[in-house]
Amino acid sequence: MTRALIWFRNDLRVHDNRVLAAAVRAADDGVVGVFAICAEQWKKHDWSSAKVSLVMRSVAELSRSLDALNIPLLLVDEPLFAQLPDRLLAIARQHGCDALFFGHEYEWNERLRDEAVSNRFEEQGLKVRALADRTLVTPGSVRTQAGRWYTVYSPFRRAVLARWADEGFPEVVNTPRKLGRRICDSDPVPTHVPRFDGPTHERLWPAGEREAMRRLDRFVSDRIDSYKAKRDLLAEPGTSELSPYLSIGAISIRTCLARAVERAQGRIDKGPEGACTWINELLWREFYTHVLAGFPRVSKSRAFRVETERIEWVEDERLFEAWKIGRTGYPVVDAGMRQLLETGWMHNRARMITASFLTKHLGIDWRRGEQHFMRHLVDGDLANNNGGWQWSASTGTDAQPYFRIFNPVSQGKRFDPDGAYVRRYVHELADRSAADVHVPISGGLFDTDYPGPVVDHARAREAALRRFGAKV
Ligand SMILES: Cc1cc2nc3c(=O)[nH]c(=O)nc-3n(C[C@H](O)[C@H](O)[C@H](O)COP(=O)(O)OP(=O)(O)OC[C@H]3O[C@@H](n4cnc5c(N)ncnc54)[C@H](O)[C@@H]3O)c2cc1C
Repeated sequence: MTRALIWFRNDLRVHDNRVLAAAVRAADDGVVGVFAICAEQWKKHDWSSAKVSLVMRSVAELSRSLDALNIPLLLVDEPLFAQLPDRLLAIARQHGCDALFFGHEYEWNERLRDEAVSNRFEEQGLKVRALADRTLVTPGSVRTQAGRWYTVYSPFRRAVLARWADEGFPEVVNTPRKLGRRICDSDPVPTHVPRFDGPTHERLWPAGEREAMRRLDRFVSDRIDSYKAKRDLLAEPGTSELSPYLSIGAISIRTCLARAVERAQGRIDKGPEGACTWINELLWREFYTHVLAGFPRVSKSRAFRVETERIEWVEDERLFEAWKIGRTGYPVVDAGMRQLLETGWMHNRARMITASFLTKHLGIDWRRGEQHFMRHLVDGDLANNNGGWQWSASTGTDAQPYFRIFNPVSQGKRFDPDGAYVRRYVHELADRSAADVHVPISGGLFDTDYPGPVVDHARAREAALRRFGAKV
């Protein structure tokens, strides 16, 4: 007889959850779920209140969905990962569970935590089954001909597509059947976690699996066909806005892929451009998770390109503060930074522009920007955030070359041509026309408290070239 304990982490859903499906298949004597609230650890990892709020609200929905399957969800409240081996083992013992199931996580501290928990269970004679659920392809299973981890996106993508051509697309697993009997009652799910704000941005980011599926449906029916044309337009709702749900596993990446493949009628390489472009973005997520799994140094605030550790970054608190609050005097940069503070999310193009501005124009260390983003993003995800920052800073895998430096004025004109994005977030510029909304104000030209540019574009560009060119 097997009674399973499922440890939910960033797989907060019942549909297409390989861990849940495997545990239900294996258990002939009931299943118990557990979720661990580790507030102190989450703070150390710079989780934002917006993310914690989405997580807790999604755990509450998960608990209701599991309830319908006769699976109770218990909560463990331990400040740090270090206490989890004992606490989880105690729960397993209390409820007579003899096997632990969980999905792999690839961040370094999470890997150490999982090793410690697995060792403790196995020492005590309990079984442990860890499955790959977070990705489309198990990290490490796609390698170069020399057996190395890929460090460049395009060949990685080609290798994944070749695998799917041979083996078919990853399978989507259904919600499991309802179990015959429930082992115990579920714990109530708190809405507030100490050290974090209460429910945050809950109207913008409704919780849970049902909302994530609704967004996927809407994206596939209304937006995916025009995704290639609109994904870079800052003022348009042209993307799926699924990242918060993917980052906590309220939706499965395989389900997302399956819907795009269906839309592309299986022709995912040279098929319909909207669906194919979207699949390429799912594969960027995949690539960065593989990089995180294969190169643990990126979890430890180290540059992927080790030689870029020699760059001497600028330490200027006044400039950093201006960037954080959206008062650099470059309208599109400020709009992006204010979107982050107001909504917990930022358009991908704005993430690229603001990250480039911090690291190239202001010369400030990418690690400070990465941390600020994590502290505010509802979709904060170490692999994607670190990947995006190191790409922008030219320190990462397959990164932007250091000499390609975005001009924030021309980026604004190109990707926010009528200025609607800037006007939405930079209220001081609300009456500015499309023609002048992206141009920094200088010499008190307009009567406004919007600041003039904190740095001159041409001079900042030269300084960045010197800073990088001399070192890399
Ligand atoms: C500096 C910087 C920081 C970033 N930080 C994060 C982060 O913390 N969390 C996060 O999920 N994404 C991050 N991204 C990637 C990207 O900006 C977001 O995933 C995207 O904006 C989310 O919007 P969407 O769900 O509408 O994406 P869509 O365009 O609809 O794409 C679908 C999904 O594909 C994945 N994806 C899309 N673009 C990328 C990309 N460039 N890299 C990796 N995955 C991608 C995401 O999971 C996204 O939800 C960052 C990018 C940069 C440049």
